[in-house]
Amino acid sequence: METLPGPGAGFAVTVAGPALAELHRNVAGCRRCVAAGLLERAAPVLPQPVPSHLVLVGQAPGRVEERAGLPFSGRAGRQLFSWLERAGLGSEEEARRRIYVTSITKCFPGPGPGGSGDRRPSRAEIELCRPYLDGQLTLLRPWLVVAVGQLALDRFLPGRPLGQLVGRLFDSSGRELDHGSLERNAQMPLVLPLPHPSGASRWLNQTENRELLGRALDLLLRLASQSAEDGSTGPWNWV
Ligand code: SF4
Repeated sequence: METLPGPGAGFAVTVAGPALAELHRNVAGCRRCVAAGLLERAAPVLPQPVPSHLVLVGQAPGRVEERAGLPFSGRAGRQLFSWLERAGLGSEEEARRRIYVTSITKCFPGPGPGGSGDRRPSRAEIELCRPYLDGQLTLLRPWLVVAVGQLALDRFLPGRPLGQLVGRLFDSSGRELDHGSLERNAQMPLVLPLPHPSGASRWLNQTENRELLGRALDLLLRLASQSAEDGSTGPWNWV
């Protein structure tokens, strides 16, 4: 499997690429949450503007990501990229070239209450940041969104707990798909749920949940392989 974007990549590189770079410039200067009194300081974290039709959305950057200026560059990121390698997406470096990795909010929200983990971004922060994620999805029009963790899942598949999502495949309307057949052309765009890879999450301590994760990674492997074979990657409308 060499490239995931497929024939849609021509569109992505020539049209979405420059527009994405401009969106990144706008996000980088954003201080909305500071102006609204929601954050003490804002330091938006963005990936390289890879014009891919495969998008991964996490919760928010952590302290390590803020320092590095790169999504999922800390311990949780190492765990995430090891999962993606299991799913056939190659090393972290290769996966970052193939996948546009972003998050629901773009700035580190600070430590959680009691100092355990990171604070979950508030509804107000999510709403202020939403146009940026909308813009990313509008420009990239992904055939697959990998939604990582409950906050990302609340955006794409609201109102359902992790245990009813991980290991299953959905279309962008929230309908569960028969992953026995994976008839992608009729069913795209797709949402594949993953749990958050942070050590702060206890969800993966249970054997049955680790089995669900294994199922999800098998699905991702099949989807990525199929995409490389038939190249039918969009573009698709999300917003
Ligand atoms: S979280 Fe989003 S909306 Fe808030 S300051 Fe950062 S980039 Fe702007």
